[in-house]
Amino acid sequence: GPRLAKRLEGLPAPATIEMARRARALRAEGHNVISLALGEPDFATPSYAVEAAHRAALAGDTKYPPVDGKPALKAAIARKFSRENGLAFEPDELIVCNGGKQVIFNAFMATINPGDEVVVPAPYWVSYPLIARMFGGIPVHPECDEVDGFSLRPERLAAVMTSKTKWLVLNFPNNPSGALCTDEDLRGIAAVLRDYPDVWILSDEIYEHLVFDNHSFRSFAAIAPDLRGRVLTMNGVAKAYAMTGWRVGYAGGPRELIAAMRVVQGNATSGVCTVAQAAAAAALDGPSDMIREMVSTYARRRSMVVDTLQAVPGFTCAVPSGAFYAYPGIAACLGKTTRDGRLLRTDTDFAMALLEQAYVATVPGSAFGLSPYLRLSCATADADLKEACARIARFVETLR
Ligand code: PLP
Repeated sequence: GPRLAKRLEGLPAPATIEMARRARALRAEGHNVISLALGEPDFATPSYAVEAAHRAALAGDTKYPPVDGKPALKAAIARKFSRENGLAFEPDELIVCNGGKQVIFNAFMATINPGDEVVVPAPYWVSYPLIARMFGGIPVHPECDEVDGFSLRPERLAAVMTSKTKWLVLNFPNNPSGALCTDEDLRGIAAVLRDYPDVWILSDEIYEHLVFDNHSFRSFAAIAPDLRGRVLTMNGVAKAYAMTGWRVGYAGGPRELIAAMRVVQGNATSGVCTVAQAAAAAALDGPSDMIREMVSTYARRRSMVVDTLQAVPGFTCAVPSGAFYAYPGIAACLGKTTRDGRLLRTDTDFAMALLEQAYVATVPGSAFGLSPYLRLSCATADADLKEACARIARFVETLR
């Protein structure tokens, strides 16, 4: 019978989706499941963005848009990059895509040949290696250690760079660890990259605003302006403006790469939904009080989660500097047995048992390439988060 393409062979479904599926099944059986599995803000899209979409639709802004984005949104993106990141872009150095995810898809499809290596520091968001593999890319994962606060040490990067390296992916603040890199580490990373002039750099800055305490964020392209000719700086409205469903992401980078990404997108999806573009432009130009409120809410939840988990015997929990996840280590819980006699060998065993016995859905670190950890999303109502942490503590107490 008809067959699927070779390029999909061995590509797993992301574990994040598998955990969400199991959680739904238990809920359907009537269990009170708390899900900390998904990275989706529990805020509403700001009303000024929704109103801008409404106005655009009523005004007839409902026809095919340009593939790479409407001029009004590109202008708002250029203002955003200049104001917030100190980066200047011309319109033909910008592209608007269907979510940040399509930025990555376009960029990788436009550049990766089979056998090219794509360096994705672990722990990582699952999509980078999966998309790279669709095009025959070979993911390579230097580790970011808990003792370094999960930031990328330049010497770890240097150790994995080869003549086959095509891309380095940087994602700080990081999903899943919440880590930031210091400016000094980023300068060290830039120094390593200067020895590899054929390597592209993807800086995924989608969590840039979600930064806590006295930490501050800087764009990689601003730290290493001499590398700008090969840095693709990507961002989106999903996380900063609670607009996950509008599917608007964008990137600024060298003209030649942007033009190639435009070719890919033109043959895949064409331009992004017009009214979503109008909403995104309003969000980028709008007031920043909503971001401030989100940051203080996430910071408060993070502290609650970290304080509770650090007190759980057998858990370690680094303090995340940004994003909305906690990434506790559970090494000392492995090798133990649950009440009903299940041996917990791996973080996947732990996450499954936690879901099935305590009804808390998390994602095991194995999904993000660094074990044994759990990822907990703090984009969850305070009361649920508190109850979930209490359930985790009780579950761990019952291990023998
Ligand atoms: N980059 C990172 C690190 C993410 O965590 C996500 C979403 O989970 C995205 C990009 C994709 O965002 P979008 O919804 O804009 O495709």
